[in-house]
Amino acid sequence: MKILVLGAGVAGIAAAWYLRQDGHEVTVLERNDAVALETSFANGGQLSYSYVAPLASPSVIPKIPPWLMRRDSPLKFVPEWSAAQWRWILAFLAACNQRQSELTTERLLRLAFYSRRMMHELVAQHALDFDYVRNGKLVVHTDARAFESAKRLVDYQRGLGAEQEALDAARTIEVEPALSSMKRRIAGAIYTPSEDAGDCFKFANELTRLMTMGANAVRLRFGVAVQRLLAIGRRVAGVETNQGVFEADRYVLALGTSAPAIVKPLGIRIPVYPLKGYSLTLPIVNDAAAPRISVTDYQRKVVYARLGSELRVAGMADLAGRTATIDTERVGQLVEEVRSTFPEASDFSRLQPWCGMRPATPRGTPILGATPYSNLLLDAGHGALGFTLALGTGRVLADIVNGRKPEVPLDGFRLDD
Ligand SMILES: Cc1cc2nc3c(=O)[nH]c(=O)nc-3n(C[C@H](O)[C@H](O)[C@H](O)COP(=O)(O)OP(=O)(O)OC[C@H]3O[C@@H](n4cnc5c(N)ncnc54)[C@H](O)[C@@H]3O)c2cc1C
Repeated sequence: MKILVLGAGVAGIAAAWYLRQDGHEVTVLERNDAVALETSFANGGQLSYSYVAPLASPSVIPKIPPWLMRRDSPLKFVPEWSAAQWRWILAFLAACNQRQSELTTERLLRLAFYSRRMMHELVAQHALDFDYVRNGKLVVHTDARAFESAKRLVDYQRGLGAEQEALDAARTIEVEPALSSMKRRIAGAIYTPSEDAGDCFKFANELTRLMTMGANAVRLRFGVAVQRLLAIGRRVAGVETNQGVFEADRYVLALGTSAPAIVKPLGIRIPVYPLKGYSLTLPIVNDAAAPRISVTDYQRKVVYARLGSELRVAGMADLAGRTATIDTERVGQLVEEVRSTFPEASDFSRLQPWCGMRPATPRGTPILGATPYSNLLLDAGHGALGFTLALGTGRVLADIVNGRKPEVPLDGFRLDD
């Protein structure tokens, strides 16, 4: 079958990878001149298979007012005259209940564990150079009450197959000595040995390198901006772009935060809204002072990963419009976080700041598969977990295209769920 994948972020590239394996003739259309230059470029690097609990939970509600009042809070909100923003917020608040939050966690855990299996199979079969490590993850708590509730979540997730352990402060430092400067603030940590990390941009480029070689190579068309889907009845007949019309038998839409605007004229509304986040990439100059294990500062919602010889730091969730412009104040706040957590690890004069737009859905679940148009499939809304989930969602998409039953139940991931 001839398949067009729209968008060469990590989601589109992973889908193209599995579609090619099934023998399809795959072309990826991308407006930039290379793959993974937007949200998949410099994200937190966490392959966070056991940390998928959504932002939308009852515990987040009491935190919102103090977060909104502090300039340096992990979450920022700039109200807009935008129906899409308010619709998203209302749907988010509606999802902040125990039942929905647990259901979402359960669904995402299944998809994440499946993605982990896909990743482990992939790296066992191919030599991929993307600073990949299986180093585990420590979620560090500085608030005793939050740590107690994290322990309860560990118990809940154990029943769903997650292997995690609660550590006291001393044991936390034993597991990750680079956290010693934070020692007096640590209430405890949750340790998950089975988490991975890697560089998402390099990963997408490595998959691209492999799938554009050999027989039945995937074709990438750069500088092609999708403008409109052309529909005849309930089928997509082509994609209108700045470089003419492209046609295929099936269309997989993996356009990140641009997805809603492209499907809206077809009468499809997808609740994806950009949640802006920031990252810093810093050269490691003091090996012992930089973490080996991926670390999350739970209270500050900042993640740290060692990627090769660099430290990647990421955080912030700003509901603040659609432009990916860097706010230097937010970058300064992230720098302060690193200075207080790993003060000796990096050369701060050489830091590279970045911001990206998470394609977030209110519940935190991606939207996968069928639309009212028989040959148009969605692979959108990966939110804060796109790197973690990309292989799983890519494989699910390929299964749907081939009429196979996906190994992960689609409940909660469909357009109308
Ligand atoms: C600060 C930050 C930290 C993060 N940390 C992590 C992490 O640690 N672990 C994790 O799993 N996830 C993380 N994420 C989330 C992850 O980065 C995203 O979920 C993921 O990159 C989304 O991938 P995507 O392919 O859907 O979107 P994108 O990467 O944005 O790809 C969409 C592609 O479509 C192209 N496109 C858009 N419109 C058009 C058009 N009209 N025509 C042609 N091409 C078009 C874009 O150019 C882009 O290349 C983080 C995100 C941020 C912002």
